[in-house]
Amino acid sequence: MPIQQDPATLAAMLDVELPRLDLAGRLALVARTGRAVFTTSLGIEDQVITAAIGTHQLPIDVSTLETGRLFQETVDLIVQTEERYGIEIRRFRPEPQDVEAYAAQYGLNGFYESVQARHACCFVRKLKPLARALAGAEIWVTGLRRGQSGNRASIPFAEYDADKNLIKVNPLADWEIETILAHVAAEAIPVNPLHGRGYPSIGCEPCTRAIKPGEPERAGRWWWENDEKRECGLHVPENAAQPVPQATPQS
Ligand code: SF4
Repeated sequence: MPIQQDPATLAAMLDVELPRLDLAGRLALVARTGRAVFTTSLGIEDQVITAAIGTHQLPIDVSTLETGRLFQETVDLIVQTEERYGIEIRRFRPEPQDVEAYAAQYGLNGFYESVQARHACCFVRKLKPLARALAGAEIWVTGLRRGQSGNRASIPFAEYDADKNLIKVNPLADWEIETILAHVAAEAIPVNPLHGRGYPSIGCEPCTRAIKPGEPERAGRWWWENDEKRECGLHVPENAAQPVPQATPQS
């Protein structure tokens, strides 16, 4: 149903209501509130949300950003999850001409050379496809948790994202990793086998490494950069995101 209310007011209301509900109740409330899209990276938190959407047949679109640089284990898990829950996970891929322009300007793996080149790659392979995935959405559901390292310690359950003009909902905001693990075991939710090999947070293959005991959960993401709050740009304001390479046509 289209949102009639001022989205900022509605986000504030959801931020109060959501913590009172269990996960299925949170997602059902979201689905009743407006057209919702959940973007999954197939990480363990996202698998918990996908399982709830599939199990309860909730009208929430499930989409993923098929960057072209994912681990094979992640690609396989997309298919496995679709079959398990009888849902379609919509794939959003980068435009071939954007990838070509990036490679021409920076080199295919130029993201190791500078933060600018890394952000430009994420822009082409993630941010632009994300914009297509969220087109027409009123609510964006994510698997962010406060317990994840980086700048996620104070994320709300719901907030109005003025840049994207939609309500961003984090239904697992208050879940600890121990709760996630117990839930996955109890429900036999399929997860990425890389989690068992030291990868608590999984992104593109060239930009993710296993972490050592005691390291923060996201220490293996873009490990060669120094910024402790590094992100791919999906969850930072758009004015902080990086532009597409100059040779790349805008779409
Ligand atoms: Fe490119 Fe790495 Fe970002 Fe993936 S995570 S889009 S490979 S820079």
